[in-house]
Amino acid sequence: MNKQIEQIHQDFLEGLNSAKDAMEIQALSIQYLGRKGLITGVLKGISQLPKEERPEAGKKANQVRLAVDNAIQEALQKLATVNTTTEDVIDVSLPGRLPLKGSLHPVSQIQQKICDIFSRLGFDVAEGPEVESDHYNFEALNFPKNHPARDMQDTFFVSDDIVLRTHTSPMQIRIMEKTTPPVRVVTPGKVFRCDSDLTHTPMFHQVEGLLVDSDISFGDLKGILTTFIHQMFDEKTSLRFRPSFFPFTEPSAEVDILCVMCRGKGCRVCSQTGWLEILGSGMVHPALYENVGYPSGKYTGFAFGMGVERIAMLKYGIDDIRKFFENDIRFLQQF
Ligand SMILES: [Zn+2]
Repeated sequence: MNKQIEQIHQDFLEGLNSAKDAMEIQALSIQYLGRKGLITGVLKGISQLPKEERPEAGKKANQVRLAVDNAIQEALQKLATVNTTTEDVIDVSLPGRLPLKGSLHPVSQIQQKICDIFSRLGFDVAEGPEVESDHYNFEALNFPKNHPARDMQDTFFVSDDIVLRTHTSPMQIRIMEKTTPPVRVVTPGKVFRCDSDLTHTPMFHQVEGLLVDSDISFGDLKGILTTFIHQMFDEKTSLRFRPSFFPFTEPSAEVDILCVMCRGKGCRVCSQTGWLEILGSGMVHPALYENVGYPSGKYTGFAFGMGVERIAMLKYGIDDIRKFFENDIRFLQQF
């Protein structure tokens, strides 16, 4: 009897040794300890033994049953620990992580605000291609080939005749080609120039404006831009118009606003001048009307263009334009 139980124990240990997973260990448990298991069988057989052998055989069989049971529990435990690496631990009591909420990029917000103000003044909003032909980006805007004004813009060329648009002004031509005046439109969008420092990035945003009708004067231009600046900043932000040059407007003017940081006293942002350059503007050059096929002398109008990042920087007091494009969530969440 003792020999038989020893043998069963031995067989079990070998079986456990070669068990590869929890399933096989469970199978061993049933094979040895189950209702019809080997050890259970031995225990049942004890009553058939001669009376004097029963106590010792019973003791031995129970010892083995206990040892087998312990070995099985231990083996299962060990498997469980191996499988539970740190990644697998799920602490159901931890509060959940909320997904990050998105928000509109500060540049998009300012661009929308610019378009909203002009919409209320009766302007339509239109968008156009970012890859332009030389014709729309330069030629039709009165930049002839080899004209020195082309050097004002550090152009990215796709091929000899195709460029990444350097300004949103090509939309002036595209819109006039399709529209009989009155034309009243603003065109926001990306533009590209080979330039990068604290105040320049190779890609930035502009909003172009165009108004063409009969009897439009420089006074209308001043009125519209003054209303815009007052709504964008506030009523105390005064403007000044400085003579300038653009090939597609005549006369042309750069528009400065009273420095929004120091209110004209002079600071680092305005280089101590008290004024900030904010946009370019002018009366549409008659050559453009000719290029789009408008009858000569019938219409007048004005155009203007502004950098969206420039306005966003002044509005939010940001001194490095590149922050807009680093996509640091801590920066973007502030707006
Ligand atoms: Zn200032």
